[in-house]
Amino acid sequence: MDVWKHSRLSARKFGGDPADYAEIHGFLDSSKLFCYHIKHRLLLHNLYGVELAMQLFGDFIQNAAGETVLVRDVAAAHCREDLDGRVPTLYDWLRNSPELEDFISADPGSGQVSDPPSDSDDAAGMPPDSGDPEIDEFARRAYRRTGLRSALAIAYSDFGVYLIERFFGAERATRFAASVVQPQWKIKDFLERFQFSEEWQHSPQTREIAWLKADSRRKISDLDRRNLSGDANPKATGDGSVRITRVSREF
Ligand SMILES: [Zn+2]
Repeated sequence: MDVWKHSRLSARKFGGDPADYAEIHGFLDSSKLFCYHIKHRLLLHNLYGVELAMQLFGDFIQNAAGETVLVRDVAAAHCREDLDGRVPTLYDWLRNSPELEDFISADPGSGQVSDPPSDSDDAAGMPPDSGDPEIDEFARRAYRRTGLRSALAIAYSDFGVYLIERFFGAERATRFAASVVQPQWKIKDFLERFQFSEEWQHSPQTREIAWLKADSRRKISDLDRRNLSGDANPKATGDGSVRITRVSREF
C-alpha cells in the first residue's frame, strides 16, 4: 500500500485531509528506498517504528480540520493496514530468524575494528563505538528493544545511516558511516535473507483495500459524470482528441 492510500485511510479515520498524514506514512515507508520489496516492512512496521515516528514528529499533529491526532495512532494504523490488522513488535518480526543473528559481526574481517573487546557482557559482540554517545545510544536501541543481535542491522547499515541523517543531520550520519558501518552491511542483503514466517507479515488488511477500491470507483464515476456534463478538465493529446488522465499511484 502506498503513501497516498495510507493517507486517504488516515483522513477517513482521523479527519482532515490526506496530506496531513503523508509525512508520517512517508517515514514508515522510507525503507522502500533501500529495498523495493514488501520485506522492507520488517524495519519500521512495528512498535519500534511507531516509537521513531513519535520521536521524529512529536506526540501529536493538528490536521486541517483543527483536530489533534496522535502520531502513535496514525503510525499504528499504517502497520494494521499493511499487516492484516497487527501492530507487531520488532521482536515479533525477527524472533523466527536466528540465522540473521550474525549478520552484523563485531569483527567483519576488514581489520577496521581497532577497539579491544570490552570486558562488559553487554558490549560483547557489539559493533564498536562511534565516538558519539548519543548516536551510539540511538543505533543500539533496536537491539535493546528486542534482545536480538539481528536487530542491530537496522542501524548498522545503509538504512541506519539514513535514519541517523534524518534524526541527527548529515554530518553526524557521515561520521557514523565512516567510523562504524561496514560496506557489506547493506539492509537489502539482510532482508533478502529474511524469510516470512507468519501470514500477517505479507498480508494487507483486506477490509481497507476494499474501501480504497470502492473510494477510487466513486471518484472515477464522479469524474466521468463531470466529464459528461462538461465540467472535467481534460488533457489535449495533440492529435485533436481528448482523454482523461487517471494517475495510477500503485507503489
Ligand atoms: Zn507501509
